[in-house]
Amino acid sequence: MKKDQIKKYHQLLLKAKHDLTSNVSKEEAEGRDAVSIEAKDFGDMATEASGQEMSFAISDAGRRSLKEIDEALLRVQENTYGTCIRCQKPIDEARLDAVPHAAMCIACAEAVEREGVR
Ligand SMILES: [Zn+2]
Repeated sequence: MKKDQIKKYHQLLLKAKHDLTSNVSKEEAEGRDAVSIEAKDFGDMATEASGQEMSFAISDAGRRSLKEIDEALLRVQENTYGTCIRCQKPIDEARLDAVPHAAMCIACAEAVEREGVR
């Protein structure tokens, strides 16, 4: 992959990480509030508890994405960005445009999903 292309995806990754970090920390702050209120004052309110689980589920997904973005940033540093970690072939640029942190080409991602291995 050319240097200016990698630079473009690097910018996309940094932006995605920034967006995600501000979202995650906000959700975590709200999640903590929900816990303390629920534990101290509303321990018997089931509706409060289910709402709280929902906000933690979103944070988990955010954290997973953040990890994938960090790994992609590492691949930028190691000059392996844009190369499939499974078959070592170049990842389709259309795929990277849609998912800048994609670690695998479409064929491998589908194979992994089918086989259920990661
Ligand atoms: Zn592959």
